[in-house]
Amino acid sequence: MPINTYVIKIASRCNINCTYCYMYNLEDSSYKKQPRFMSNDTMEVLCRKIATYSRQSGVKNVIIVFHGGEPLLVNPSFFTATKALLDEHLKGQGIYYSMTLQTNGTLLTEAWIDFLDKHEIDIGVTIDGTKDIHDQFRIYKSGKGSFDEIYRNLKMLSIKKLGLITVLNPEEQAPDLYALYKDLKVGLVNTLLPLHTFETYKQEDEQKFIALLEGLYRLWKEDHDQGKPLLLFFYSILGLKAGIYEGHEQMGITKCGSLIVETNGDLETVDTLKSCKSGITASSINIHKNEIADIFMEENISLYYHSHQHLCTTCQQCDKRHICGGGYLPHRYSKVNGFNNPSVYCNLIKHMIGLVEEDMKNTASEELWNRINQENEAALEKSAYFNDFYLLESFKTEVA
Ligand code: SF4
Ligand code: SF4
Repeated sequence: MPINTYVIKIASRCNINCTYCYMYNLEDSSYKKQPRFMSNDTMEVLCRKIATYSRQSGVKNVIIVFHGGEPLLVNPSFFTATKALLDEHLKGQGIYYSMTLQTNGTLLTEAWIDFLDKHEIDIGVTIDGTKDIHDQFRIYKSGKGSFDEIYRNLKMLSIKKLGLITVLNPEEQAPDLYALYKDLKVGLVNTLLPLHTFETYKQEDEQKFIALLEGLYRLWKEDHDQGKPLLLFFYSILGLKAGIYEGHEQMGITKCGSLIVETNGDLETVDTLKSCKSGITASSINIHKNEIADIFMEENISLYYHSHQHLCTTCQQCDKRHICGGGYLPHRYSKVNGFNNPSVYCNLIKHMIGLVEEDMKNTASEELWNRINQENEAALEKSAYFNDFYLLESFKTEVA
């Protein structure tokens, strides 16, 4: 898969100060050298070059993610101008695009919701679980937690397609977290495992994470409400096992087709790698002097792009590798071996894949189960077969 997702840092500063923020509070401090906001000029060059690259590499669907820092610190006129540029350079050339804005949710207002809706920009909000947990980490510069404002905004404002990102906390209880998702009427939830390397991971948290994910999975599976949230972590395991999905940067067999664009136009690999060591995502490629295809000359971008193909020896021999994909790249880092390790969450991922597989086996017919396994092996070799959608549909009606 060529690059099709552009995570664009339109603001390099934020109005809150999460304790674990990889931009401001972990190993890397490169944000200090970035302009506070992306200029219209940089966005114009970027849109033009996305169009050129997409045409040359056959990409028909481009995903634009407005990111930061906090993207709602940017003047609304910037989004209007950007949409006009995307219409001109992409839509005008037959390339479809969709837009999402990833926000911490504290600055959302009715006016913003209307504006984003009018500009067809979906909204993703980060909320790290229930109030006590969230407020330990996602705090204002004063130290006060941000949960109350985010919750109030999400309850009061009617967001058509709300997506949530939750960085999981080992102290969270699954029923409380699932109840929050239902309460907020979320469409899609991406539950993330915290950014840890072999130097920072606390082994004693493993059983708590397993209990939390197992609990969430069972609640999700047993929830027969048509409007229940789609929990991406489990949906990915199901889809990968069934062989109709290639996954994403955290899991699976796909190439990782996202690119970070900094406010000054630097093109970089996934910014969560900043949690590993300072300067690790730095690249010499900038949209003002390079073409997007030039990024493959950068070793760190190539490493991320191929992260589900280039696996350590342990992962190469693992029977879960076609679903796990060796885990998310930042989770593999150690000072001794670099990225040549299994994920720090290896046991947890293996456990969850095993649990979902067991469930599939128990609920699918023998014929379907055999077929899933045969086809899945083939999918490993020739990427995935997407045409047999029947498998997932069958599975959804039987289990999900
Ligand atoms: S909201 Fe995002 S950018 Fe802002 S401090 Fe938190 S993690 Fe960092
Ligand atoms: S991280 Fe663990 S579960 Fe994943 S492929 Fe590697 S060995 Fe297997």
